[in-house]
Amino acid sequence: MVKYELLPEQLLYEGTLTPDHFFEPEPLNDEVILWTHERGYWEKLKNQELTRKEIRAIGFPMSELLVRRGTHISNGTVQCALYAQQFGCAMNIAGGTHHSFTYKGEGFCLLNDIAIAANYLLKKGLSKKTLVIDLDVHQGNGTAQIFRNDDRVFTFSMHGEKNYPLRKETSDLDIGLADNTGDSLYLKILSNTLPALIDEVQPDLIFYLSGVDVLKTDKLGRLGMTLQGCKERDRIVLEACRLNKIPVAISMGGGYSERLAHVVEAHANTYRLAQEVFF
Ligand SMILES: [Zn+2]
Repeated sequence: MVKYELLPEQLLYEGTLTPDHFFEPEPLNDEVILWTHERGYWEKLKNQELTRKEIRAIGFPMSELLVRRGTHISNGTVQCALYAQQFGCAMNIAGGTHHSFTYKGEGFCLLNDIAIAANYLLKKGLSKKTLVIDLDVHQGNGTAQIFRNDDRVFTFSMHGEKNYPLRKETSDLDIGLADNTGDSLYLKILSNTLPALIDEVQPDLIFYLSGVDVLKTDKLGRLGMTLQGCKERDRIVLEACRLNKIPVAISMGGGYSERLAHVVEAHANTYRLAQEVFF
């Protein structure tokens, strides 16, 4: 959890960002949450009525504060999408809670911030076709389930095939990678896939889940990438967005290296690159 404080501190300290780059999202109201999540699930979550089994699947000790935090984060991604439409790129220093389904949470995810934001913009008529690029090492199973029957949102997940979740959902495009895939193969697959995918889908908005648990130092990752490789991955995505003039909203996603410095450095690279590519 401490990375959420260290990352903005680092970005301010090194001058990548200044305080006026930041915004503080309000909590999200029930109506917007219910455009994505089932009422029964949201009410159990909000009223602290999940069963012990449901809480265990999420993996956090449950509290009102934690739920409220989830609504701030989700609204952060909504705001990001709106800022991205204004400025080209905007980022959430949290989010990427892609293991949250319409009807349940799991894997440290309560509410699905990207799904909530995508549905918000669709509902408001601010987007007609959305592409989700999920490069966290874990499959975006919740996002896949939420948009399974929705043609307006194309879900692309590239992840460790052997990694959590054991039982994968079906995204519109899934690429499952072997353990220790490493930089060169990973980057080759991504650069062979992404430009053609953007051409095919023709999105007017992109959500990018930039989890850094692809690193070889990651406790949960196993894909064997270096910090440099991870940064090149971000470059491929951000340059494709920029080249195609498609606004991109970025959520941070996972990162669990033994040394916190690796996690913060890898996430900070995404922000540094966004400055370089977009501003
Ligand atoms: Zn992950």
